[in-house]
Amino acid sequence: MNTSFTHPEFADHERVVFVNDKAAGLQAVIAVHNTQRGPAIGGCRMWPYENVDAALTDVLRLSRGMTYKNALAGINSGGGKSVIIGDPRTAKTPALFRAMGAAIESLGGRYIVAEDSGTSPTDMAVIAETTTHVAGLESDSSNGDPSPSTALGVFLSIREAVSFRLGRSDLLGVRVHVQGLGKVGFELAKLLVSNGAVVNASDINDDNCRRASDELSIRIVSNDELLTGNCDVFAPCALGGVLNEWSIPTLNTSVIAGAANNQLLTQEDDLRLANAGILYCPDYLVNAGGVIDVYHRRQGNSQENIDAGVTAIADRLNSVLTEAQSRGISPAQVAQERAEDLIRGPQNDPIPTVAA
Ligand code: NAD
Repeated sequence: MNTSFTHPEFADHERVVFVNDKAAGLQAVIAVHNTQRGPAIGGCRMWPYENVDAALTDVLRLSRGMTYKNALAGINSGGGKSVIIGDPRTAKTPALFRAMGAAIESLGGRYIVAEDSGTSPTDMAVIAETTTHVAGLESDSSNGDPSPSTALGVFLSIREAVSFRLGRSDLLGVRVHVQGLGKVGFELAKLLVSNGAVVNASDINDDNCRRASDELSIRIVSNDELLTGNCDVFAPCALGGVLNEWSIPTLNTSVIAGAANNQLLTQEDDLRLANAGILYCPDYLVNAGGVIDVYHRRQGNSQENIDAGVTAIADRLNSVLTEAQSRGISPAQVAQERAEDLIRGPQNDPIPTVAA
Protein backbone atom coordinates (compact mmCIF):
# COMPACT_ATOMS: atom_id res chain seq x y z
CA MET A 1 0.00 0.00 0.00
CA ASN A 2 1.28 3.45 -0.92
CA THR A 3 0.44 5.71 2.03
CA SER A 4 3.03 8.36 1.23
CA PHE A 5 2.89 11.72 -0.53
CA THR A 6 3.41 9.83 -3.79
CA HIS A 7 0.05 8.03 -3.62
CA PRO A 8 -1.56 8.48 -7.08
CA GLU A 9 -4.62 10.17 -5.55
CA PHE A 10 -2.65 12.43 -3.19
CA ALA A 11 -3.33 16.04 -4.24
CA ASP A 12 -1.67 18.27 -1.69
CA HIS A 13 -4.04 17.14 1.04
CA GLU A 14 -3.54 19.08 4.27
CA ARG A 15 -4.09 16.09 6.58
CA VAL A 16 -4.71 12.40 6.22
CA VAL A 17 -5.45 10.61 9.47
CA PHE A 18 -5.65 6.84 9.94
CA VAL A 19 -7.88 5.83 12.84
CA ASN A 20 -7.39 2.41 14.36
CA ASP A 21 -9.42 1.83 17.54
CA LYS A 22 -9.36 -1.89 18.21
CA ALA A 23 -11.62 -1.73 21.28
CA ALA A 24 -14.33 0.03 19.28
CA GLY A 25 -13.77 -2.08 16.14
CA LEU A 26 -13.06 1.08 14.14
CA GLN A 27 -10.75 1.38 11.16
CA ALA A 28 -11.21 4.66 9.35
CA VAL A 29 -9.40 7.28 7.30
CA ILE A 30 -10.13 11.02 7.51
CA ALA A 31 -8.83 13.25 4.73
CA VAL A 32 -8.81 17.03 4.92
CA HIS A 33 -8.01 18.21 1.42
CA ASN A 34 -8.16 21.99 1.62
CA THR A 35 -9.39 24.53 4.19
CA GLN A 36 -8.66 27.69 2.18
CA ARG A 37 -12.37 28.62 2.11
CA GLY A 38 -13.15 27.47 5.67
CA PRO A 39 -13.35 24.27 7.71
CA ALA A 40 -13.57 21.21 5.50
CA ILE A 41 -17.06 19.74 5.34
CA GLY A 42 -17.85 16.33 3.85
CA GLY A 43 -19.65 13.09 4.52
CA CYS A 44 -18.56 9.95 6.31
CA ARG A 45 -18.91 6.91 4.06
CA MET A 46 -19.16 3.41 5.49
CA TRP A 47 -18.31 0.68 3.01
CA PRO A 48 -16.79 -2.84 3.15
CA TYR A 49 -13.60 -1.84 1.30
CA GLU A 50 -11.47 -4.77 0.21
CA ASN A 51 -8.44 -3.31 1.95
CA VAL A 52 -7.05 -0.11 3.46
CA ASP A 53 -5.60 1.05 0.13
CA ALA A 54 -9.04 0.97 -1.50
CA ALA A 55 -10.39 3.04 1.40
CA LEU A 56 -7.48 5.49 1.16
CA THR A 57 -7.86 5.89 -2.59
CA ASP A 58 -11.56 6.59 -2.15
CA VAL A 59 -11.17 9.12 0.65
CA LEU A 60 -8.38 11.02 -1.12
CA ARG A 61 -10.47 11.36 -4.28
CA LEU A 62 -13.70 12.15 -2.45
CA SER A 63 -12.15 14.81 -0.20
CA ARG A 64 -10.58 16.60 -3.17
CA GLY A 65 -13.95 16.51 -4.93
CA MET A 66 -15.52 18.16 -1.87
CA THR A 67 -13.12 21.11 -2.13
CA TYR A 68 -14.25 21.69 -5.71
CA LYS A 69 -17.91 21.02 -4.94
CA ASN A 70 -18.05 23.39 -1.96
CA ALA A 71 -16.20 26.16 -3.78
CA LEU A 72 -18.45 25.98 -6.82
CA ALA A 73 -21.55 25.81 -4.61
CA GLY A 74 -20.55 29.17 -3.13
CA ILE A 75 -20.35 28.03 0.49
CA ASN A 76 -17.54 29.07 2.80
CA SER A 77 -16.25 25.56 3.38
CA GLY A 78 -13.18 23.61 2.46
CA GLY A 79 -13.19 19.98 1.34
CA GLY A 80 -12.81 16.84 3.41
CA LYS A 81 -14.23 13.36 3.70
CA SER A 82 -13.97 10.30 5.91
CA VAL A 83 -14.45 6.59 5.32
CA ILE A 84 -15.12 3.79 7.79
CA ILE A 85 -14.08 0.34 6.65
CA GLY A 86 -16.99 -1.99 7.39
CA ASP A 87 -20.33 -3.26 6.23
CA PRO A 88 -23.00 -0.71 7.19
CA ARG A 89 -25.61 -3.49 7.42
CA THR A 90 -23.74 -5.47 10.08
CA ALA A 91 -20.81 -3.55 11.58
CA LYS A 92 -22.45 -0.46 13.08
CA THR A 93 -22.21 -0.04 16.87
CA PRO A 94 -22.52 3.00 19.14
CA ALA A 95 -18.92 2.43 20.28
CA LEU A 96 -17.69 2.59 16.69
CA PHE A 97 -19.39 5.93 15.99
CA ARG A 98 -18.32 7.38 19.36
CA ALA A 99 -14.72 6.48 18.51
CA MET A 100 -15.16 8.11 15.08
CA GLY A 101 -16.49 11.24 16.79
CA ALA A 102 -13.48 11.35 19.09
CA ALA A 103 -11.12 11.11 16.11
CA ILE A 104 -12.95 13.98 14.37
CA GLU A 105 -12.85 16.03 17.59
CA SER A 106 -9.08 15.59 17.73
CA LEU A 107 -8.81 17.56 14.46
CA GLY A 108 -10.00 20.65 16.32
CA GLY A 109 -12.72 21.68 13.85
CA ARG A 110 -10.70 21.40 10.65
CA TYR A 111 -13.16 18.73 9.49
CA ILE A 112 -16.95 18.75 9.91
CA VAL A 113 -18.58 15.40 9.31
CA ALA A 114 -22.02 14.70 7.81
CA GLU A 115 -23.76 11.57 6.59
CA ASP A 116 -22.92 9.84 3.32
CA SER A 117 -23.44 6.50 1.66
CA GLY A 118 -23.74 3.89 4.44
CA THR A 119 -24.33 6.38 7.27
CA SER A 120 -27.45 8.18 8.47
CA PRO A 121 -28.62 11.05 10.69
CA THR A 122 -28.99 8.45 13.48
CA ASP A 123 -25.27 7.64 13.19
CA MET A 124 -24.47 11.37 13.19
CA ALA A 125 -26.39 11.70 16.47
CA VAL A 126 -24.08 9.09 18.04
CA ILE A 127 -20.99 10.80 16.59
CA ALA A 128 -22.28 14.05 18.16
CA GLU A 129 -21.83 12.46 21.61
CA THR A 130 -18.06 12.84 21.21
CA THR A 131 -17.65 15.80 18.84
CA THR A 132 -19.35 19.09 18.10
CA HIS A 133 -17.96 19.10 14.56
CA VAL A 134 -20.90 17.35 13.00
CA ALA A 135 -23.60 18.51 10.55
CA GLY A 136 -26.76 16.89 9.26
CA LEU A 137 -28.35 16.31 12.66
CA GLU A 138 -32.06 15.96 13.22
CA SER A 139 -33.67 19.27 14.25
CA ASP A 140 -37.08 20.93 14.44
CA SER A 141 -36.86 21.86 10.78
CA SER A 142 -35.28 18.73 9.33
CA ASN A 143 -34.84 15.00 9.84
CA GLY A 144 -31.15 15.62 9.11
CA ASP A 145 -31.08 13.73 5.83
CA PRO A 146 -29.75 16.01 3.03
CA SER A 147 -30.55 13.46 0.30
CA PRO A 148 -33.83 15.11 -0.81
CA SER A 149 -31.92 18.37 -1.43
CA THR A 150 -29.29 16.43 -3.40
CA ALA A 151 -32.03 14.73 -5.43
CA LEU A 152 -33.71 18.08 -6.12
CA GLY A 153 -30.45 19.61 -7.35
CA VAL A 154 -29.88 16.64 -9.66
CA PHE A 155 -33.46 16.79 -10.90
CA LEU A 156 -33.21 20.51 -11.72
CA SER A 157 -29.89 19.83 -13.46
CA ILE A 158 -31.43 17.08 -15.58
CA ARG A 159 -34.21 19.47 -16.60
CA GLU A 160 -31.63 22.11 -17.49
CA ALA A 161 -29.43 19.71 -19.46
CA VAL A 162 -32.42 18.27 -21.33
CA SER A 163 -33.47 21.77 -22.30
CA PHE A 164 -29.89 22.63 -23.35
CA ARG A 165 -29.16 19.48 -25.35
CA LEU A 166 -32.56 18.28 -26.50
CA GLY A 167 -34.40 21.61 -26.67
CA ARG A 168 -37.20 20.29 -24.46
CA SER A 169 -38.90 22.54 -21.92
CA ASP A 170 -40.40 19.63 -19.96
CA LEU A 171 -39.60 16.02 -19.12
CA LEU A 172 -42.76 14.43 -20.51
CA GLY A 173 -41.76 11.09 -22.03
CA VAL A 174 -38.04 11.78 -21.55
CA ARG A 175 -36.32 8.43 -20.88
CA VAL A 176 -34.09 8.47 -17.81
CA HIS A 177 -31.95 5.59 -16.57
CA VAL A 178 -31.24 5.85 -12.82
CA GLN A 179 -28.45 3.69 -11.42
CA GLY A 180 -28.83 3.17 -7.67
CA LEU A 181 -32.10 3.46 -5.77
CA GLY A 182 -30.73 4.50 -2.38
CA LYS A 183 -31.47 7.70 -0.51
CA VAL A 184 -30.85 9.99 -3.50
CA GLY A 185 -31.73 7.70 -6.40
CA PHE A 186 -35.16 6.89 -4.96
CA GLU A 187 -36.04 10.58 -4.39
CA LEU A 188 -34.74 11.47 -7.85
CA ALA A 189 -36.81 8.73 -9.50
CA LYS A 190 -39.86 10.01 -7.61
CA LEU A 191 -39.35 13.59 -8.89
CA LEU A 192 -38.77 12.36 -12.43
CA VAL A 193 -41.88 10.17 -12.48
CA SER A 194 -44.04 12.96 -11.07
CA ASN A 195 -42.82 15.19 -13.89
CA GLY A 196 -43.72 12.73 -16.62
CA ALA A 197 -40.33 11.13 -17.31
CA VAL A 198 -40.13 7.43 -18.16
CA VAL A 199 -37.74 5.87 -15.63
CA ASN A 200 -35.81 2.62 -15.78
CA ALA A 201 -33.57 1.84 -12.83
CA SER A 202 -31.17 -0.71 -11.38
CA ASP A 203 -29.77 -1.49 -7.94
CA ILE A 204 -27.79 -4.38 -6.51
CA ASN A 205 -30.02 -4.28 -3.42
CA ASP A 206 -33.24 -6.25 -4.05
CA ASP A 207 -35.18 -4.51 -1.25
CA ASN A 208 -34.47 -1.10 -2.79
CA CYS A 209 -35.59 -2.37 -6.21
CA ARG A 210 -38.81 -3.80 -4.77
CA ARG A 211 -39.64 -0.62 -2.89
CA ALA A 212 -39.07 1.57 -5.95
CA SER A 213 -41.03 -0.70 -8.24
CA ASP A 214 -43.95 -0.91 -5.75
CA GLU A 215 -44.09 2.76 -4.80
CA LEU A 216 -43.06 4.49 -8.02
CA SER A 217 -44.15 2.07 -10.74
CA ILE A 218 -40.81 2.32 -12.49
CA ARG A 219 -39.21 -0.49 -14.46
CA ILE A 220 -36.34 -2.34 -12.78
CA VAL A 221 -33.69 -3.63 -15.19
CA SER A 222 -30.26 -5.21 -14.90
CA ASN A 223 -27.20 -2.97 -14.60
CA ASP A 224 -26.12 -4.10 -18.08
CA GLU A 225 -29.43 -3.13 -19.62
CA LEU A 226 -29.38 0.17 -17.78
CA LEU A 227 -25.92 1.07 -19.08
CA THR A 228 -26.38 -0.06 -22.67
CA GLY A 229 -30.09 0.61 -23.23
CA ASN A 230 -31.28 3.55 -25.30
CA CYS A 231 -32.22 6.56 -23.17
CA ASP A 232 -32.07 10.36 -23.13
CA VAL A 233 -30.44 10.76 -19.71
CA PHE A 234 -28.24 8.46 -17.66
CA ALA A 235 -28.26 9.38 -13.96
CA PRO A 236 -25.53 7.57 -11.96
CA CYS A 237 -26.66 7.53 -8.30
CA ALA A 238 -24.66 4.58 -6.95
CA LEU A 239 -20.89 4.61 -6.49
CA GLY A 240 -18.04 6.26 -8.41
CA GLY A 241 -16.01 5.21 -11.48
CA VAL A 242 -19.04 4.17 -13.53
CA LEU A 243 -17.88 6.21 -16.53
CA ASN A 244 -14.75 4.56 -17.85
CA GLU A 245 -13.05 3.24 -20.99
CA TRP A 246 -15.17 0.08 -20.90
CA SER A 247 -18.61 1.53 -20.12
CA ILE A 248 -18.48 4.69 -22.27
CA PRO A 249 -18.45 2.92 -25.68
CA THR A 250 -21.57 0.98 -24.63
CA LEU A 251 -23.58 3.99 -23.43
CA ASN A 252 -26.59 4.97 -25.50
CA THR A 253 -27.55 8.33 -24.00
CA SER A 254 -27.41 12.04 -24.85
CA VAL A 255 -26.94 13.43 -21.34
CA ILE A 256 -25.32 12.26 -18.10
CA ALA A 257 -26.32 13.94 -14.85
CA GLY A 258 -26.43 12.13 -11.53
CA ALA A 259 -25.64 12.21 -7.84
CA ALA A 260 -22.72 9.81 -7.56
CA ASN A 261 -19.37 11.33 -6.64
CA ASN A 262 -16.35 10.75 -8.91
CA GLN A 263 -18.33 9.32 -11.82
CA LEU A 264 -15.34 9.61 -14.17
CA LEU A 265 -12.79 6.88 -13.44
CA THR A 266 -10.01 8.98 -14.99
CA GLN A 267 -9.64 12.48 -16.47
CA GLU A 268 -9.46 10.95 -19.96
CA ASP A 269 -13.03 9.72 -19.58
CA ASP A 270 -14.24 13.31 -19.88
CA LEU A 271 -12.71 13.46 -23.37
CA ARG A 272 -14.11 10.01 -24.21
CA LEU A 273 -17.62 11.24 -23.39
CA ALA A 274 -17.17 14.41 -25.45
CA ASN A 275 -15.93 12.34 -28.40
CA ALA A 276 -18.96 10.08 -28.04
CA GLY A 277 -21.21 13.16 -28.30
CA ILE A 278 -22.51 12.76 -24.74
CA LEU A 279 -23.15 15.87 -22.64
CA TYR A 280 -21.57 15.17 -19.25
CA CYS A 281 -22.78 17.43 -16.42
CA PRO A 282 -19.96 17.57 -13.82
CA ASP A 283 -20.93 15.46 -10.81
CA TYR A 284 -19.73 17.84 -8.13
CA LEU A 285 -21.67 20.70 -9.70
CA VAL A 286 -25.03 18.91 -9.93
CA ASN A 287 -24.88 16.91 -6.66
CA ALA A 288 -24.12 19.85 -4.34
CA GLY A 289 -27.67 20.12 -2.95
CA GLY A 290 -26.89 17.97 0.09
CA VAL A 291 -23.85 19.91 1.25
CA ILE A 292 -25.66 23.21 0.62
CA ASP A 293 -28.45 21.88 2.85
CA VAL A 294 -26.24 20.78 5.78
CA TYR A 295 -24.05 23.88 5.54
CA HIS A 296 -26.99 26.30 5.84
CA ARG A 297 -28.65 24.30 8.61
CA ARG A 298 -25.43 24.27 10.61
CA GLN A 299 -25.07 28.03 10.11
CA GLY A 300 -28.63 28.44 11.41
CA ASN A 301 -29.77 29.87 8.06
CA SER A 302 -33.34 29.63 6.78
CA GLN A 303 -35.06 27.17 4.46
CA GLU A 304 -35.15 30.04 1.92
CA ASN A 305 -31.33 30.06 1.93
CA ILE A 306 -31.30 26.33 1.26
CA ASP A 307 -33.90 26.56 -1.50
CA ALA A 308 -32.06 29.44 -3.17
CA GLY A 309 -28.76 27.53 -2.96
CA VAL A 310 -30.21 24.36 -4.48
CA THR A 311 -32.10 26.21 -7.21
CA ALA A 312 -28.92 28.08 -8.15
CA ILE A 313 -27.35 24.74 -9.18
CA ALA A 314 -29.40 24.69 -12.40
CA ASP A 315 -28.46 28.29 -13.28
CA ARG A 316 -24.81 27.50 -12.61
CA LEU A 317 -25.03 24.43 -14.83
CA ASN A 318 -26.58 26.47 -17.62
CA SER A 319 -23.77 29.00 -17.35
CA VAL A 320 -21.11 26.26 -17.42
CA LEU A 321 -22.71 24.47 -20.39
CA THR A 322 -23.01 27.74 -22.31
CA GLU A 323 -19.39 28.70 -21.70
CA ALA A 324 -18.19 25.20 -22.59
CA GLN A 325 -20.09 25.31 -25.86
CA SER A 326 -18.81 28.73 -26.82
CA ARG A 327 -15.18 27.85 -25.99
CA GLY A 328 -15.36 24.37 -27.52
CA ILE A 329 -14.21 22.67 -24.31
CA SER A 330 -15.99 20.27 -21.96
CA PRO A 331 -18.29 21.36 -19.12
CA ALA A 332 -15.98 19.51 -16.70
CA GLN A 333 -13.05 21.70 -17.80
CA VAL A 334 -15.07 24.88 -17.29
CA ALA A 335 -16.30 23.71 -13.86
CA GLN A 336 -12.76 22.85 -12.81
CA GLU A 337 -11.40 26.24 -13.89
CA ARG A 338 -14.14 28.07 -12.03
CA ALA A 339 -13.69 25.99 -8.87
CA GLU A 340 -9.92 26.51 -8.89
CA ASP A 341 -10.37 30.29 -9.26
CA LEU A 342 -12.71 30.25 -6.27
CA ILE A 343 -10.34 28.11 -4.18
CA ARG A 344 -7.50 30.52 -4.86
CA GLY A 345 -9.70 33.51 -3.82
CA PRO A 346 -9.89 36.39 -3.09
CA GLN A 347 -13.15 35.93 -1.20
CA ASN A 348 -15.97 38.43 -1.02
CA ASP A 349 -17.24 36.88 2.18
CA PRO A 350 -15.05 36.47 5.24
CA ILE A 351 -13.85 32.92 5.72
CA PRO A 352 -15.44 31.55 8.90
CA THR A 353 -13.04 30.65 11.67
CA VAL A 354 -12.71 27.04 12.79
CA ALA A 355 -15.54 26.75 15.26
CA ALA A 356 -17.91 24.25 16.86
P1 NAD B 1 -27.07 5.07 -0.74
O1 NAD B 1 -26.04 4.20 -0.13
O2 NAD B 1 -28.30 5.39 0.02
O3 NAD B 1 -27.50 4.51 -2.15
C1 NAD B 1 -26.61 3.96 -3.07
C2 NAD B 1 -27.37 2.85 -3.77
O4 NAD B 1 -26.58 2.36 -4.85
C3 NAD B 1 -27.67 1.65 -2.87
O5 NAD B 1 -29.03 1.33 -2.94
C4 NAD B 1 -26.78 0.55 -3.43
O6 NAD B 1 -27.34 -0.74 -3.28
C5 NAD B 1 -26.70 0.95 -4.88
N1 NAD B 1 -25.54 0.42 -5.59
C6 NAD B 1 -24.26 0.24 -5.16
N2 NAD B 1 -23.51 -0.28 -6.14
C7 NAD B 1 -24.34 -0.41 -7.22
C8 NAD B 1 -24.15 -0.89 -8.54
N3 NAD B 1 -22.96 -1.34 -8.97
N4 NAD B 1 -25.20 -0.90 -9.37
C9 NAD B 1 -26.42 -0.46 -8.98
N5 NAD B 1 -26.65 0.00 -7.73
C10 NAD B 1 -25.63 0.02 -6.87
O7 NAD B 1 -26.30 6.43 -1.12
P2 NAD B 1 -26.92 7.83 -1.49
O8 NAD B 1 -26.89 8.69 -0.29
O9 NAD B 1 -28.20 7.64 -2.24
O10 NAD B 1 -25.81 8.39 -2.47
C11 NAD B 1 -25.67 7.89 -3.79
C12 NAD B 1 -24.43 8.51 -4.44
O11 NAD B 1 -24.56 9.93 -4.43
C13 NAD B 1 -23.12 8.22 -3.69
O12 NAD B 1 -22.08 8.17 -4.62
C14 NAD B 1 -22.94 9.44 -2.80
O13 NAD B 1 -21.59 9.66 -2.46
C15 NAD B 1 -23.47 10.51 -3.73
N6 NAD B 1 -23.96 11.69 -3.03
C16 NAD B 1 -24.92 11.58 -2.08
C17 NAD B 1 -25.39 12.72 -1.43
C18 NAD B 1 -26.48 12.66 -0.39
O14 NAD B 1 -27.04 13.72 -0.03
N7 NAD B 1 -26.86 11.48 0.10
C19 NAD B 1 -24.85 13.98 -1.76
C20 NAD B 1 -23.87 14.05 -2.76
C21 NAD B 1 -23.43 12.91 -3.39
